[in-house]
Amino acid sequence: MKRDLSRRTFIQKGLAAGIGLAVMNPVLSAMSSETIVLAKNGRAKATIVLSPAPSATERFAANELAAYLHKITGATFPIATMEEKPKGTLILIGKDTNEPGPESFRIQTKGDQLLLTGFDDSGVEFAVYTFLEKWLGVRWLWPGELGEVVPRNTTLSIGKIDDAQQPDFLWRDRGPGGALWGATSGPTEMHERARLMGITAAHQEEVKRWERRNKWGGWKVYGGHNIAEIFPPQKYASTHPEYYAWVNGKRAVPGPDFDHKHGGQVCTTEPGVISTAAEWVNQFYDDHPDYQGVHISMNDSGGFCECDRCRSLDTGKMMGGGGIDAQETKGAAVRKAIITDRIFTFANQVAERVQKRHPGKYIFCFAYGPMILPPEKIEVHPNVVPQYTLWSAYKHANPGLKQEHDKIAAAWAKKARLAGIYEYHINGSWPGMHRLTPAYYAQNIRYLRQQGIRLYQTQSGDEFSTNGLNYYVTGKLLWNASQDENMILADFYEKGFATAGPAVRRLHERLEKAWIDATKGGHDVTCNSIEDRGLAELFNSELMSNCSNDLDAAAAAAPTQTIKRRVDFLRQGLHYTKLTVDAVTTVKALGANPKKPSVSAALDACRQRLQFVEERKNDYIFPYFWVRYNDEQRSFLPSLAHLQALLDTAEG
Ligand SMILES: [Zn+2]
Repeated sequence: MKRDLSRRTFIQKGLAAGIGLAVMNPVLSAMSSETIVLAKNGRAKATIVLSPAPSATERFAANELAAYLHKITGATFPIATMEEKPKGTLILIGKDTNEPGPESFRIQTKGDQLLLTGFDDSGVEFAVYTFLEKWLGVRWLWPGELGEVVPRNTTLSIGKIDDAQQPDFLWRDRGPGGALWGATSGPTEMHERARLMGITAAHQEEVKRWERRNKWGGWKVYGGHNIAEIFPPQKYASTHPEYYAWVNGKRAVPGPDFDHKHGGQVCTTEPGVISTAAEWVNQFYDDHPDYQGVHISMNDSGGFCECDRCRSLDTGKMMGGGGIDAQETKGAAVRKAIITDRIFTFANQVAERVQKRHPGKYIFCFAYGPMILPPEKIEVHPNVVPQYTLWSAYKHANPGLKQEHDKIAAAWAKKARLAGIYEYHINGSWPGMHRLTPAYYAQNIRYLRQQGIRLYQTQSGDEFSTNGLNYYVTGKLLWNASQDENMILADFYEKGFATAGPAVRRLHERLEKAWIDATKGGHDVTCNSIEDRGLAELFNSELMSNCSNDLDAAAAAAPTQTIKRRVDFLRQGLHYTKLTVDAVTTVKALGANPKKPSVSAALDACRQRLQFVEERKNDYIFPYFWVRYNDEQRSFLPSLAHLQALLDTAEG
């Protein structure tokens, strides 16, 4: 790791200055050698100090600190650099490469000085956010100003602090994942595509800020099912048809209807495929040296190569069907050949070539579908990261499924030097109604950490009103897996809702219990198709009415307007769930030959839901992207046009 001497000097200079200042300031020293006064009666008593040449992130972190100190105390805190020789109490913000590693930081008082130092830019940022959260009582419950808890205090002092932290998980990523992969041309493309759907840049920025304030981040890893990005048919279909999979006795070159994500697999033993993939990854790392990992994962669904060369690498074993088949692919579990050995042989060969040009960089490969179980005949290259997919903590009310997931995760952790997880906080068959299982996420993260798994990505949405608690607890545990989720939850209710906290807790626990009861037998409640059972039974009228009562009680107990508005934010989520359940129930009631009144009811319910979704899409209530994805990709709810046509032809 590179040592940055100028930055170390900055910290040492600061320390020296601090010792000097403590001696020169007898008033404060006499008051208490253990106390640093930051503000008194609404006036700043400290200067925020940056290194002589601060990075943009260090400057940003200093501005964030000044902004929150202002919100807390009403005082304006000056920001200076060391060269300006600031006097008085100093809050030093900067890098210290003596910290143990990426993202690590230390919060420390020395004499009259508060040091917020990080190993790197992220460490500096996290030092500031952790100081605000842990010592000044700031919380970021969900994105946007309403989710922000800032205690007010015109006089502010701190006692002795020495707190060094580093992340338990090196990668703590919230997606957006899955459905946004495909024909992409670079790491930012997915956000552009989200914007095209109507999700504003401001919304995305706010979510990103919330993530950083809760210490999400870490490694930069590109892609997912992106084999089609490496082997675009428009480039190779005519020049190198042999790159594509041999299926049912012929070359399965992807046609014009190829969506760049499903099927369209390649022959992974074809020498040109191995060299092309390696060159593509090498080029990626040339262009993006700040990335630690890049995927070369196969596309979703099936269509894998059946040539003799590929098959000779397989174990000959078949998938048993049942629980480990892809939940997002429709259709029943079918028996299919396990192909992990051939796929990881390919990944190993690519990694081998990439190490020559980019030593230390990683190749990611999903452990998923017919490659979900570890290889048996080969080892995994130390720079290949299997990312175990379909972990799905929300299903873990079912003990058999949890045991199966645990077993697979442990097996991969043992097989690879670094293994990762692809979790599903949301998926294409769940448009973001309540699915609260914060304790399962916490327990699972602790289990993964015990197994030595330190890379965690989860498919996410912005449904903070309904399922924000899952994200909040997950983020905290990914940073520090030894935390007790019950303490985190108690703090969430107390800081966010004060006297309304018990009623909000009752709401969340009621919804959590309802989900657990509905799924503990192994039945996954989904919106894959309108035929799926369970949704209306889960969100039955009794549950919905009890939840509504909890929110009424919370609103009545809310001591401030802000807390009343937070309760209303939660009410919007319940409203969204109710609108969705109403739409499903009325559509399900249609049957084969529906009469006009029932079609009219279904049309009204679906229209009301869509209207709410369009009006509130930027408000963190539901996951707009996944609502649209679910509506368009699943046979879950019919379109308004379809219902209108049905209404026009239906009998009185
Ligand atoms: Zn092949």
